Amino acid sequence: MTGMQSNTLDAADPLAAFRARFIEAPDVVAYLDGNSLGRPLQVSIDALTEGATTAWAQRLIRSWDDGWIELPVTLGDRIAEAALGAAPGQTVVGDSTTVLLYKQVRAALALRPDRDELIVAVDDFPTDRYVLEGIAAERGATLRWIPSGDVSPDAVAALLGTRTAVVVLSHIAYRSGAIADVPAITALAHDVGALVIWDLSHSVGAFPIQLDEWDVDLAVGCSYKYLCGGPGAPAFAYVASRHLDEIRQPIQGWLGGAEPFAMGPGYRPGPGIRRMLSGTPPILSLLALGPAVDTVAEAGIERIREKSIALTEHAIGLADELLPDAILATPRDARRRGGHVTLDHPDFEAIMPKLWERGVIPDFRRPTGIRLGLSPLSTSFAEVESGIRAIAEELSEV
Ligand SMILES: *Cc1c(COP(=O)(O)O)cnc(C)c1O
Repeated sequence: MTGMQSNTLDAADPLAAFRARFIEAPDVVAYLDGNSLGRPLQVSIDALTEGATTAWAQRLIRSWDDGWIELPVTLGDRIAEAALGAAPGQTVVGDSTTVLLYKQVRAALALRPDRDELIVAVDDFPTDRYVLEGIAAERGATLRWIPSGDVSPDAVAALLGTRTAVVVLSHIAYRSGAIADVPAITALAHDVGALVIWDLSHSVGAFPIQLDEWDVDLAVGCSYKYLCGGPGAPAFAYVASRHLDEIRQPIQGWLGGAEPFAMGPGYRPGPGIRRMLSGTPPILSLLALGPAVDTVAEAGIERIREKSIALTEHAIGLADELLPDAILATPRDARRRGGHVTLDHPDFEAIMPKLWERGVIPDFRRPTGIRLGLSPLSTSFAEVESGIRAIAEELSEV
């Protein structure tokens, strides 16, 4: 019954053909971790090879003039257009998410010099919390914590005040997959004169984002999850154009400066979004990411979201049927959840190694969660079913 349904869903999937563009892993039965590390596209491997054997090996230093120097900004614009709803000139690709977040929080604090409170959620991804803790200690700021549970506008409003400098939140929660109301929360923060930084790591490439329309100040996000940029692919930072003249970030490196090759005496921030850069970006990773972003653009983020909803709907239906003892930790209402589904069960930790051994690869989130990251361009409905059937089989043998 469900088996037929998976095949029917795959047959009707307008994005099904994209799956063949990803490199196969013959021992993998179900890859359900596309939100931790996206699968590689053949075009990315080709770009990586070409970048290494031609641009690096043959063109050598001349490649900086062939486009490498502009790549952080030109690729930023491609991500902005494909997935962020942002006009050009506001997005740059460079460091890790962690480092870019640090730079943005420090830069945002400096834009609100008379304020000393930062708002952060206890359920947020560890790096985001740790970066905020470090900055609070460094700058003598106070952290105000949103308690465990959904990051609702009310929960944020309860902590906002005239001392709030910056609110740092994830658009889609890394564990539950719940979606935060970006425009509503951003507007509430603006009402008290605060700035908001959105971490888009779990929404970019899976969910239609409208940074300009939502009046977002600053944002950062990961490119190796749904964007499939590859392990360690650098993150992107968005700064709304209205802040660009004023913003100053703390890691003043030469490549973010006004005239990198003038080698002058003092630092002056570079023009526009370039000033968010610090040192030399990982060019080969940027080259691999480019065609992956173009693939998202070609598929269309609205169609990707439609498939994402259908995949998570399918996973939840199968879990209801085959894993009746597991508890759904993700919102049942598709409008409130992103591209992954988390289920809790006390025996999940014990079965994880067995699942990985048989080529069924979800990930585990402490203490009891199995997280199914369903990357729309590379995941089939049949694959979701195989994965959930394997989980049910392993559970029955504990
Ligand atoms: C994946 C993820 C990160 C990753 O940070 P890195 O510096 O790339 O390791 C950061 N924040 C969130 C919310 C994430 O989901």
